[in-house]
Amino acid sequence: MVKTMRELLARNGHELLDLIESKEIDHFELLQAQLDFARSVDDKLGAFITWHEEAKVLRPSLAVDIEGLRPRRDVVPGGGPRRFNRLPYAAKDIFATEGIASTAGSRMLEDYRPAYNATCIEHLKQEKNHLLGKTNMDEFAMGSSGETSAYNTTRNPWSTEHVPGGSSSGSAAAVAACQCVMALGTDTGGSIRQPASFCGIVGYKPTYGMLSRYGMIAYSSSCDQAGIFARSAQDVALVMNTIARPDGLDSTCRTPQGVDYYAEAQREVHWKKLRLGVLKPFTDPQRIDAPVLDNFNAALERMAGAGAEVVELDFPLADYCLPAYYIITAAECSSNLARYDGIRYGKRSAKDELMQRYLEVRSEGFGPEVKRRILLGAYVLSAGYYDAYYDRARRVRRDIRAALDKMFTKVDIIATPTSPTLPFKFGERLEDPVAMYMSDLCTVFVNLAGSAGISLPSGFGEADGVKLPDYERVELDNG
Ligand code: GLN
Repeated sequence: MVKTMRELLARNGHELLDLIESKEIDHFELLQAQLDFARSVDDKLGAFITWHEEAKVLRPSLAVDIEGLRPRRDVVPGGGPRRFNRLPYAAKDIFATEGIASTAGSRMLEDYRPAYNATCIEHLKQEKNHLLGKTNMDEFAMGSSGETSAYNTTRNPWSTEHVPGGSSSGSAAAVAACQCVMALGTDTGGSIRQPASFCGIVGYKPTYGMLSRYGMIAYSSSCDQAGIFARSAQDVALVMNTIARPDGLDSTCRTPQGVDYYAEAQREVHWKKLRLGVLKPFTDPQRIDAPVLDNFNAALERMAGAGAEVVELDFPLADYCLPAYYIITAAECSSNLARYDGIRYGKRSAKDELMQRYLEVRSEGFGPEVKRRILLGAYVLSAGYYDAYYDRARRVRRDIRAALDKMFTKVDIIATPTSPTLPFKFGERLEDPVAMYMSDLCTVFVNLAGSAGISLPSGFGEADGVKLPDYERVELDNG
């Protein structure tokens, strides 16, 4: 039985779909309640940069309404894959959204209103889902805490003194705080999985090429991948059924055909057939903090108790993952971000002299972390250092991929903690880039190999005297 709209907003998308399909709730009413709630708590959370004003438009003409409520063939049981449909969602501000500001968290793009939708956004629109707004993020997706955004500060909904993780900070916080049912993010080195773990929700980064990158503002093209935040794995699967389609606009998009992710997610897990690989370096107490490790080990024990076989694996390349990742992504970002020169893309300058224009636009448009990476990238690609850095990093990447291929002949899944630490406080790592980069220790190898990764909540740990994520969420009940 449906109690109140407020109680509904904490439900998962697949449960809401059941209620919409059985006509127990009306999706326009749900949208209005979701939008009102999301806006009312955002002063405290700062998850959104821009609200999509059109989402406020209630109940269009009756004809459209009836069309929206007509049972679809593909949501009738047995009638084809079930999809994420008629539900409120949010998108990281890195996705191009037609007519709606798409800033990538940067001043450089504050006036950018794309003339088109990213492919993932277009698929969600075709299923009549409602985009509530665009979520805050680290500038150009470079960061692990949300603190490099040129806009607001996004807080962790479980404890507002702690960061929500990054770079898809707003998307993670919004889903955790029930400001939306689902949110899109991107993951180049962990930017979906790490904030999902900091905020206690599910974060999924599919295999490279599963989802179209068309309309995603580029950071590091060979690692960037769109993905999904939700409060359940079933919801992630519903969204995959909606957005995992081949796309002629992205030549790297190779989506397998005929997979029903939702049906797969409903299947029982045969624990006794599951071989779970654990990478020894990522269970090393020197590298992983005790509360994270305790929690991870407890989760492993539960899975082993259910019958899974746990296999310990060596991974001698573990210490090379971060350096290789930061060399390759910096190199690619220095090339991708060259287009923001004030002439082709980005802010404009009134200066007459070309060099003065570049200097003005790029020094004012980019924040310090983005500048650092552009400089690093230009350095590792320069003639004298290309072989010593970039080419070596590429070779490490190839070896990581080969090592994973070998591991997957022995195990079905590789399990690691998502982040080596619990959420940290604002300001704690901002002045020390290397400490910030260490947040990505356990996630970047997945992107370098082009594999899929998912972060699942496994419990709670205590940081700075606060249980994180904590059951005592920020006071969200504003009346
Ligand atoms: N934190 C990592 C970085 O700063 C990952 C970013 C990402 O996945 N977009 O590069």
